[in-house]
Amino acid sequence: MPACDTRDTWTQFLQFVKTRCSLTAFGNWLAPIRVLELTSEEITLEIPNIFVQDYLLSNYKKELCAFLPVSAQGEPAIRFVIASPQKKQQTTSPTITTQLTSTGVENYPEVKLNHNYRFETFIEGPTNQFVKSAAVGVALRPGHSFNPLFIHGGVGLGKTHILHSIGHYIKEHHKKLRIQCITTEALINEIVDNLKKKSMDRMKNFYRSEIDVLLVDDIQFLQNRLNFEEELAHTFEALKNKGAQIVITSDKPPSLLKLSERTIGKMEGGLVAHMGVPELETRVAILQHKAQQKGLHLPHKVAFFIAEHIYNNVRQLEGAINRLSAQCRLLDLNITEELVSMTLREMLQQAPREKISIEEILKCVAAVFNVRVSDLKGSCRTKDIALSRQVAMYLARLFFNEYQSLIALATYFNKTHSTILHACKNIEKKMMTDEALCEQIGQIRKKIEC
Ligand code: ADP
Ligand code: MG
Repeated sequence: MPACDTRDTWTQFLQFVKTRCSLTAFGNWLAPIRVLELTSEEITLEIPNIFVQDYLLSNYKKELCAFLPVSAQGEPAIRFVIASPQKKQQTTSPTITTQLTSTGVENYPEVKLNHNYRFETFIEGPTNQFVKSAAVGVALRPGHSFNPLFIHGGVGLGKTHILHSIGHYIKEHHKKLRIQCITTEALINEIVDNLKKKSMDRMKNFYRSEIDVLLVDDIQFLQNRLNFEEELAHTFEALKNKGAQIVITSDKPPSLLKLSERTIGKMEGGLVAHMGVPELETRVAILQHKAQQKGLHLPHKVAFFIAEHIYNNVRQLEGAINRLSAQCRLLDLNITEELVSMTLREMLQQAPREKISIEEILKCVAAVFNVRVSDLKGSCRTKDIALSRQVAMYLARLFFNEYQSLIALATYFNKTHSTILHACKNIEKKMMTDEALCEQIGQIRKKIEC
């Protein structure tokens, strides 16, 4: 029986279901399920108890059939295995709690988290929803769901925000669990310090046996630091073996990090989730939210105007609000598009929209996917061409974002506007799990934007 890509199929099912149930239900019922095996004929799921099986079959039979193998009788072909009590015990009450007082842990300060970075202040949209749900799943049941959870995405898109949100939630809801949240740089400095002070054993002991949740930010800084990589790999291994939760963020997927294959394999062993660039509507919502936090009245039209021009970095959106807020307070002005244009001149200049034509977008797509521009406008349905055409539609929509231009785009591609929307949704969905595709789209965007 050929093995399928478990992560893809099961993740896609989870992604789909997550948009249809509450986060609590997702965390309680779905996140704890583990895929033991998946072939083209059957999937084997490990569940914590029989109720999860009932829940799945009574609520999601149709969806299970759509995503997973189906039996000859048209039923989902699932073999359920109940996790052994030993395993359950291990994960529900990690050994750590009994060890907490054993060795100089009290010398380590309490976990430091940015008080603003919470789930409640994180605005969701199609490109970051999956990461958020996975993070909530981990926060609800640390060590039980995805381990490690590896979050990757571009700069300023909310990776640290989500990492700290997990920390806050666990701190408040699982009070006994000991959390360490640290940037890779700080971790390396700590190792250097402890080497100097000859206190490595104490540090190792802390990281490998006294922590229940390790949140590591910006793992890309581990690249080309061979000795540290080895040290960390051992730590991850030790933590994972005792059921402690690990969450890692990075600006690239594991496969593109210059680390050993073994380390990469470990990072890919849990769930790899991509944090995408928020689309227009989400950017507007983020701006409104940030403005509200600052007590600034931001007319919708103006929020729309800013979101159209600052499109690939949430930190810049935040910067725009801060600058506008200062300007309005100092000069006692109302926010208008003119004021925005004046105040944010340099920021808005980064927007390349006016210089770009659809032809140029298509050329960049054709170059990266190695197809002809005419293929992208044609109707050939071979797999590669159909995918590159959908990417072209997705990027064209991203760069020409208003409703009117949707019709124009449809005319350009000689398709209906619902075909364009379907293509965009499909690519967004694929980008949540397909790192190679994310990478290709990133390359195209770079070409378009420079
Ligand atoms: P990264 O770690 O990916 O570089 P950060 O987590 O530091 O990005 O996010 C940059 C800023 O943007 C932070 O202030 C964060 O609160 C904010 N931010 C990013 N994404 C969102 C979002 N979806 N909703 C609200 N704020 C966000
Ligand atoms: Mg960060």
